[in-house]
Amino acid sequence: MAARSGLRHGGGSCSGSARDRAWGGLLAAVLVSVLGLAAPIAASAADGLTDIAATTYTLNPAEGRLDVAIEITVSNAKANTTVDVPCTKWVHDPAGGYHAVPGTCPQTTTYYVNETFLWIERTATRIAVTADRGAVSISVGKRDTSFDEYRVGFTNVYNGGTLHLRVTYQVPGGAPRSAEPTRVGKAYASFCVIANGIDGGSTRVVAPTTYAMQVDPHNGAFTTTTSGGARTWQTLLMPDASAFWACFTGDDPVGYLRSTLASPAGRAIELQAWPEDPVWNATAKREISDAVGKLEKLVGRALPGTGPIIVREVGSDELGAYAGTFTPSEMVARVGENLDQPGVVAHELSHSWFNDALFTARWLSEGSADWAESTITGEPCREPGTFPGPGSPNIADWRFAGPRATRRDLEVIDYQYAASCFVVSTLAGKAGPDRMRTVLAALIDHEAAYRSGGVILRHPDGPEDWRAWLDAIDELGLVPAGVTDLDYAQNLVARFDGEAGIAMLPARSKARTLYHRLAGEIGAWAIPEAVLRPMNDWRFDEATAAIQTESAAFAAVSGAAEALPEAGAVNGPIRRLVEGAPNLAALSSAAAKASDQRIAAEAVAEAKGAATAPRDPLEQVGLIGTDLDPWLAAGVAAVASIDLATARARADQVNAALAAAPGLGAIRLGAALGLVLFVGLGFLLVRRRRAAARARAVAALAAVASIDGADGTAE
Ligand SMILES: [Zn+2]
Repeated sequence: MAARSGLRHGGGSCSGSARDRAWGGLLAAVLVSVLGLAAPIAASAADGLTDIAATTYTLNPAEGRLDVAIEITVSNAKANTTVDVPCTKWVHDPAGGYHAVPGTCPQTTTYYVNETFLWIERTATRIAVTADRGAVSISVGKRDTSFDEYRVGFTNVYNGGTLHLRVTYQVPGGAPRSAEPTRVGKAYASFCVIANGIDGGSTRVVAPTTYAMQVDPHNGAFTTTTSGGARTWQTLLMPDASAFWACFTGDDPVGYLRSTLASPAGRAIELQAWPEDPVWNATAKREISDAVGKLEKLVGRALPGTGPIIVREVGSDELGAYAGTFTPSEMVARVGENLDQPGVVAHELSHSWFNDALFTARWLSEGSADWAESTITGEPCREPGTFPGPGSPNIADWRFAGPRATRRDLEVIDYQYAASCFVVSTLAGKAGPDRMRTVLAALIDHEAAYRSGGVILRHPDGPEDWRAWLDAIDELGLVPAGVTDLDYAQNLVARFDGEAGIAMLPARSKARTLYHRLAGEIGAWAIPEAVLRPMNDWRFDEATAAIQTESAAFAAVSGAAEALPEAGAVNGPIRRLVEGAPNLAALSSAAAKASDQRIAAEAVAEAKGAATAPRDPLEQVGLIGTDLDPWLAAGVAAVASIDLATARARADQVNAALAAAPGLGAIRLGAALGLVLFVGLGFLLVRRRRAAARARAVAALAAVASIDGADGTAE
């Protein structure tokens, strides 16, 4: 159900206090005047006199009226009474004649009854009375607010006598929008009934079975029977008939004048008007035609549901202080006959989205409906002004206008509507129409507000609470719209909402600050479920720990990337682990690996730095034949795959080779020098040996040459 405030509807005739006052007057009148006494002595007791009435109201939709019949039975069983009373007796004295002497005389009182009293509806017509004997009359006596007191006079009914009276009249249904509270039409009826009978009475109400009735009896009860197309509500004989009253409200579904309209998105809206009220029919039709397209555009969706949305005319008295109501389970908007307030139809139609199935907080449904209404009427939702109630405003404690609502109650209710409208429309205005559609889509689809990198978490099916609404407004509305004050929305809500959950707003503020700082820090990285879920669930301690953990992981990976860019740490496996972390444990594990990666990267980077540093000749000699690059490449690969042990081993390998290089160089150089000396000595030896040999050969050749005359050279 949803409703709209409006104080212009007056109360009906059925108000308890009004009736109590009315009957107070009746009883006083009855008690002083019912007994007509024949004797000169006043008799006060009513013993033996009975006045019992059976009142029947018959709903007559075809004629638009109630037909009322009151059958009254007056009986007099009060016996005559005789008492001795002082009197003067005349005594005859032969001497002096008659003279008076005091004495007592019997006096008989004879009781009769010749009138009764009734309350008849002020608008009654064709009032008539008949009696089974004697003359009878009916005349109005005292007039009251809704009922007039009538006196029915009839022939004297003496002891042992009984008289049957029948009073009939008609109560025509009031015209639509008239002050007369009774409505009796082909589609809709609303009326109240009473009981008559000074010494007791019963009431019967008869209506066609096609009418579905809501019955609200007071100081009595009905039993219901059905026969021949009529349903009958019957009370027992009630000793105090004056205390009883009951109100009937109902409709005949086949009695409405129906017309069907279609929204731009194709949703059917069925208008159900009273056949007797073409003005309402035309006005409602015009307002629906104007509103539905704008509403669908505002929300970004077709009107929800599958069957037709029904807009039904109801009596304004039925709605009390409200101009309309909406029942989501039936998709029925009940709009009062007093269709004098622009936007009521739009407001109620918008409740097809904004109702208890979407929001747990009533202020969100009403605030959203008022916001929707204001966008159509152009009448903005203004600041509500000073709170008229005691204490502080609290729209979370939504107040309803019951039949006994005081003026102060109604002012508080109006304030709540105004405040809710102001909160919703202010924030919707800051978000802008496109982003507001996104906000509503998320809420309607139960999608959580904190989302990142394509991850959209779902809320459980069922209505969303004000916290989910606030998150959606903030994260999908205000932040994308560039509102930099992260507390703007929650501060506005806190002005009017005193709910206990408000106490969590400071923690929410801190967590959201950290959340958005993280989003700014991590560049292209996404924020994982490990953060999103506790943010969405308002578990801010866990969310904060997760935010800090992701921040630490990103810092570690950034450190690794800075130390060893070629390892590609920022977009490596840590990113995948972090972005896929479903909870804090997984995120912590990823952060630990990120720390390992940084350590490994720094180790390999250090080794790489050492490997590429300038080398002295000795080191160069020591490293001849040693290729560090494969080790460094393996180290980089180990960093990329977060294999800390391998990375360290490769770095150590490089470092060890570098450390060993000078010594090895020295050894090699020493060995090289030894080899040169040895080779030199060998050369001399060869030279010398060869010179001696040559000397020997020269001598031999000389001997040969002396024979051949030739000379030769060797070497
Ligand atoms: Zn409403």
